[in-house]
Amino acid sequence: MAKIHELAEVLANQISAGEVIERPASVVKELVENALDAHSRQIDVHVSEAGLKTIQVIDDGDGIAADDVLNAFKRHATSKIHNRKDLFKVHSLGFRGEALPSIASVADVILETSAGLVGQRVHLRGGQVVDQKVSTVRKGTTVTVKDLFFNTPARLKYVKSPATELANISDIVNRLALSHPEVAFSLAHNGHLLFKTAGNGHLQQTIAGVYGVNNAKKMLAVRAENLDFKLHGFISLPELTRSSRRYITVLINGRYIKNFQLNKAIIAGYGSKLMVGRFPVVVLAIDMDPLLVDVNVHPAKQEVRLSKESELGDFIQQTIYQRIAQENLIPDANENL
Ligand code: ADP
Ligand code: MG
Repeated sequence: MAKIHELAEVLANQISAGEVIERPASVVKELVENALDAHSRQIDVHVSEAGLKTIQVIDDGDGIAADDVLNAFKRHATSKIHNRKDLFKVHSLGFRGEALPSIASVADVILETSAGLVGQRVHLRGGQVVDQKVSTVRKGTTVTVKDLFFNTPARLKYVKSPATELANISDIVNRLALSHPEVAFSLAHNGHLLFKTAGNGHLQQTIAGVYGVNNAKKMLAVRAENLDFKLHGFISLPELTRSSRRYITVLINGRYIKNFQLNKAIIAGYGSKLMVGRFPVVVLAIDMDPLLVDVNVHPAKQEVRLSKESELGDFIQQTIYQRIAQENLIPDANENL
């Protein structure tokens, strides 16, 4: 008798949730990325009890058409790529079609959405549809996640203290806001506003919203370009430092990524200007040929594989080094704020 069988969809989703949804901040990241992919101009994130009680993301984006709402919760179902060719030039933040089914398999989820005409409200718990009805909502999508990991006790145990989980949530929303100055973001915890950005497209003002006006004033604009790469962003003056690398944000083609080598190049660009154990505040956006970037390395898509990584590192280091040297020669007042 055959012993090998396909797993039930809900079980398969719970297994992939293990990779995509590690903690409350992963839910926030996936929901905000979906909101960004839907061309939202305003994204409001409300969490309570560090996301363990509720996570709610409200957007004013494209919404999901009524007949597509349940498809959004199917495994590997996506509207963002169609074929193999698309995979090598992904423009959206999502493309694996895993986030919503994964989240719904380990939590209680209510999604309310409207693409303009009739709205829909669907409620899933542990991957099963509890309820679906027509609802009257404005265009956009609101996802509310409760009871995260209620049916995966091992994962719940792995969740750290509320302070750590909230720091992780703040960290990811900060970086997504910094990646999208054209989108107005807000983050509130237990009803208290933690930060908001104006969404006027101005990067330095976005930095001011996220890290405060005084810090944003101590930053220098950088811009450089060669045959392979275009860089732009803001780097802190050597006097503005932090004790953690958390304040270095690198974006590749609009996607916030984690890359140790590029962080190292940024720090190296400061030469001897930084004290040991101190790190600058940096937001650096890199545009390059998408064919040189493989985002399909890890389900959370924060690690990417880069061809020409060392060339890019050298270019970043050089650009920062020169910008700081130039500032020492002709310090200019920062009058944009
Ligand atoms: P992916 O983002 O990889 O496509 P998800 O599971 O995150 O997979 O979402 C599945 C689909 O649901 C998306 O492809 C998109 O069509 C739709 N969707 C999810 N969230 C939103 C949103 N906030 N606004 C509009 N459409 C959304
Ligand atoms: Mg997604």
